[in-house]
Amino acid sequence: MSKLEDIVSLCKRRGFIFPGSDVYGGMAGTWDFGPLGVSLKRNIMQEWWSFWVDKRDDMYGVDAAIIMNPRTWRASGHVDTFNDPLVECKECHGRFRADKLVGGATESITTEAFLAAKVKCPTCGKENWSDVRKFNMMFETHVGAVSDETSIAYLRPETAQGIFTNFRNVVDTIYPDMPFGLAQQGKAFRNEISPRDFILRDRECSQMEIEYFVKPDEWEKAFEMMRVEHLKFLEKVIGLPAEMLHELDVSAEDRAHYSKKTIDIMFDYPNGEEELMGLAYRTDFDLGNIQRESGKSMEYRDKSTGEAFVPHVIEPSIGVERLVMAVLSAAYCEDEINGEKRTVLKLPENLAPYKFCVSPLLKNKPELVEKAREVYEKLKDKYTFVTWDDSGNIGKRYRKQDEIGTPKCVVVDFDSLEDDSVTVRDRDTTEQVRVKIAEL
Ligand SMILES: [Zn+2]
Repeated sequence: MSKLEDIVSLCKRRGFIFPGSDVYGGMAGTWDFGPLGVSLKRNIMQEWWSFWVDKRDDMYGVDAAIIMNPRTWRASGHVDTFNDPLVECKECHGRFRADKLVGGATESITTEAFLAAKVKCPTCGKENWSDVRKFNMMFETHVGAVSDETSIAYLRPETAQGIFTNFRNVVDTIYPDMPFGLAQQGKAFRNEISPRDFILRDRECSQMEIEYFVKPDEWEKAFEMMRVEHLKFLEKVIGLPAEMLHELDVSAEDRAHYSKKTIDIMFDYPNGEEELMGLAYRTDFDLGNIQRESGKSMEYRDKSTGEAFVPHVIEPSIGVERLVMAVLSAAYCEDEINGEKRTVLKLPENLAPYKFCVSPLLKNKPELVEKAREVYEKLKDKYTFVTWDDSGNIGKRYRKQDEIGTPKCVVVDFDSLEDDSVTVRDRDTTEQVRVKIAEL
């Protein structure tokens, strides 16, 4: 098995991530988080919110609706340009992204260029293709009881527009000093032609985005601040190893239509280097579009000079699932302890679903169970994220806790009844030390 398959298997076996709608045979491109996965995901999202919003004076949160007025997506360019090049095999009717079938091709690949590459259908092996056509990736729906052209709406393909459309409201209500940022976490939807690579390319994902509004001539300073702070966040808070992160200055032809500069932060995933997050200078593209489409001014009036201008924007955008996958990839390892193989998730303590696991050495000795329960309650009060395990033997419990990334296992034994100490076993080193219960 490849490392990716090992991680997928561990995620399912231990209740981190399940295939979406598993009981009905699944739903392509969707994944469900189980009890441990949701803890990991929430811890990551909470760390982001704390780092970017709670601890800063220049950031504010918003939480906008997923279904927005469709004019949003006309103004933003998504109706016209949020397309992937689609080809269909006329033999088996399999649909594919034309650019992904031709090595080195870009999203603007033409039918001629595609046919010239003479690729065979990955499903049936034949070579009988339709023309390349533009496939809009927004999920379309109808709002209200009538289903016609006037009731069309879209599930948002990015959270960003929910921020931009609230720019005026925020400025009019709290009038923050410039520069300032608006942050949002939430779901976004993309009808990927071929979802793949586990949670890396799914049809429904959670985004964490910031729109950081600046004076037009101060964008470079803000961009650099965002770049440096993001590396700090990814390395120091999320615990990703610096050597697995790479910055990619995206060339003009590969940048999104709205961006004047983009740096992608890439990560060494098990199947190769892939985008973890993007940092883009979006100029006044979005506020300018909204101003045109809505007829309302998006100008900000400088508090000291009185000068009015449409702010420019630096946008860091992270897919939560991509970050979860990076954390799992960095944490997953297999090693050998005293000749015995084990799988361990070396999750940073701030992200692990449980910080401690408490157990009695033997579960059929009431005095041990009672003492262990006391220790459990005490730790639960103090650290919240504490689990109890009295199943199987102690070795099995350790292996299970190693697999779910619990940093410390606390075991209450007969000595504990005498000396009020417990054995604390470290996940990474497997070293065991005696610690006074009062000092836990
Ligand atoms: Zn085919």
